Amino acid sequence: MRAEGIFIAVEVEDGAATDAALAAKLTEVCPVDIFAVASSGELELVDKNIDECVLCRLCLDAAPEGAVTIIKRYDNDSQL
Ligand code: SF4
Repeated sequence: MRAEGIFIAVEVEDGAATDAALAAKLTEVCPVDIFAVASSGELELVDKNIDECVLCRLCLDAAPEGAVTIIKRYDNDSQL
């Protein structure tokens, strides 16, 4: 799944997005509530908060390598 803001985009691998434990962990660590848990237990991305990302890397540290990608659209799509 992918969500786009003006400055930031967030991508989560499909396999990771259906991992309820990971969804709960990401929801807990992100300080600006970019991640949420759907009623199904799967991960949701909160579109209105995407551009609030503070580049703290907590989501990257909480997820298996490559499962979450933060893309800096304002910086030629470079990755955090
Ligand atoms: S880098 Fe920080 S603020 Fe940005 S999505 Fe990850 S946890 Fe949230």
